[in-house]
Amino acid sequence: MADDEADARLQRPALEVTFDEFKDYCAEKNIITHCPMCKKIDWQTAIGQNEKFPLQLYGMPPAPSGPIEYSLVFEMACRNCGFICHFQANPVLDWKARRGK
Ligand SMILES: [Zn+2]
Repeated sequence: MADDEADARLQRPALEVTFDEFKDYCAEKNIITHCPMCKKIDWQTAIGQNEKFPLQLYGMPPAPSGPIEYSLVFEMACRNCGFICHFQANPVLDWKARRGK
């Protein structure tokens, strides 16, 4: 994905997911929500417990002969111990799109 394309995708309102929507996604997908390190259930997005979940670009290290590959991800951080986990954005966005119909 080119940098311009990635920037454009990050600006689309359809890519917005709220913290509450993400909690619904986790419940529907039977995702265990306690922290795998400290066992607490006290998550926040990368920048806090705001309304909108920030999408982030996760860049894979370049192969010796290829371009950098990017994925859109949601990042969660445990507020108790600081453990960080990532969820690929596309399954969440597809779920949200189907839910809205
Ligand atoms: Zn933790």
